[in-house]
Amino acid sequence: MDLDDAAILGELDALRARDAPTHGGRVLSYVYDAGMPELDELAAQAARRMQAVNGLDPTTFTSVAALERDVVAFARDILGGDEDVAGSVTSGGTESCLLAVKTARDLWRAGGGTGVARIVAPVTAHAAFRKAAELFDLAFDAVPVSPATGTLDAAAVVDRLGPDVALVVVSAPSYPFAAMDPVADVAVACAAAGIACHVDACIGGWILPFWPDRVPAWDLAVPGVTSLSADLHKYGYAPKGVSVLLHRGRDRHRAQYFATTDWPGYPVVNPTLLGSKSAGALAAAWAIIRALGADGFAQLAARAARATAALRAAVAGIEGLRVVGVPTGPLLAVATDESVPPERRVDPHHWADRVRGAGWVLQQQPGLTQADGIRLPHTTHLTVTPVTETVLDELVAALVAAADAVRGVPAVDPAQALGALPAQLPERLDSDAAAAVLAGIGLGAGGALPDAMAPLMALIEALPHPVAERLLTELLARTIAP
Ligand SMILES: *Cc1c(COP(=O)(O)O)cnc(C)c1O
Repeated sequence: MDLDDAAILGELDALRARDAPTHGGRVLSYVYDAGMPELDELAAQAARRMQAVNGLDPTTFTSVAALERDVVAFARDILGGDEDVAGSVTSGGTESCLLAVKTARDLWRAGGGTGVARIVAPVTAHAAFRKAAELFDLAFDAVPVSPATGTLDAAAVVDRLGPDVALVVVSAPSYPFAAMDPVADVAVACAAAGIACHVDACIGGWILPFWPDRVPAWDLAVPGVTSLSADLHKYGYAPKGVSVLLHRGRDRHRAQYFATTDWPGYPVVNPTLLGSKSAGALAAAWAIIRALGADGFAQLAARAARATAALRAAVAGIEGLRVVGVPTGPLLAVATDESVPPERRVDPHHWADRVRGAGWVLQQQPGLTQADGIRLPHTTHLTVTPVTETVLDELVAALVAAADAVRGVPAVDPAQALGALPAQLPERLDSDAAAAVLAGIGLGAGGALPDAMAPLMALIEALPHPVAERLLTELLARTIAP
């Protein structure tokens, strides 16, 4: 029996009602709320008008080319680019990062590079670059950062440059710790060595240009920076599915493209990874840029900056917690303050679990042993948006109360977390074996996560990466198993 529209949409509403809230500032990651319903409505209207268009062919759907041209022009302007900078709109940060790597690899090969190319990047560089290395067959060389501050030493990168390096990546800022990498120092060394240097400004790119505090040079105005990614579906406040990737030099941009006439169908020219693609998020981003202009972005950045400063001060004032390093931009990470006695310490994962109980979603990040054996602490991440300012008092009260509730509770012991697993894990974790292991620790077929995530995070930390990755893959795959 076919349902009528109201019933279908009612079903969708019921599903959506169970989601974490996308608006109102209660979720401090994933979603970027400008706090302007009229802007969301404009974006929705713009996307609706493009619903039937295929972004595959901007010569047939010329509107797509016009929108993309405008968005790239605005991006180039705010990101320090000159006439020589060209770029594309992509479906998101991951696609921008993948294409930056593919482009660099192809140019490295064109320049005579043979064998396996290497990406040099701080360990804090977004996981999308590890994905790119895997997909496009490069080696990923993760440079350790300071465990206290999450910052990268430029010399550590420079030491690793060599003829097999196709791309160096730096972040502005890094997602895990909001650390600003030393872009200028790294880029100048890359230029001297003839190596491409990508600035991953996926999270910072649409807000740092308008940030009220001084920020060290990080954009395309910096000599030696050859490409830059910046996500419109983050601080461009657009719906998911839109980012920009800019390149210094038209020829570098052209190396991003795939083209073939070697099949009996239409001549294929794809600037990005997809073929047929939506132009909805592009149109939404375009409309938002038109509505806000630089002044509008600056006002929103000011709100996010005020909220970030207030949150940073509030967290710094909580005994037992510390803000990691010197965060730049609207995000920060929180770790245990080990300078106070154990009974006064606050574990950031127990803290986040408590905060979640009060209706706020923070993002837990597992600790990690770096290539040099030095361990980065487990932390809790907060991404701050303009709307955060409107709920600040309530949020700070929740953060303080949660810390008071868990102060002195030790972090989950990784050995204990491991103890929940069978002593001997099956040699090959096929789907059934992985599901059985998950069921044994209370993670069943429904895919529902436990209320307390700290034990799961500790388990992720304690397990060898391939095992943790396999179990998490199973967990996610089971959420959509028909
Ligand atoms: C979000 C982000 C990415 C990946 O972007 P997606 O849009 O999630 O695919 C890459 N780098 C940084 C620094 C990011 O914050």
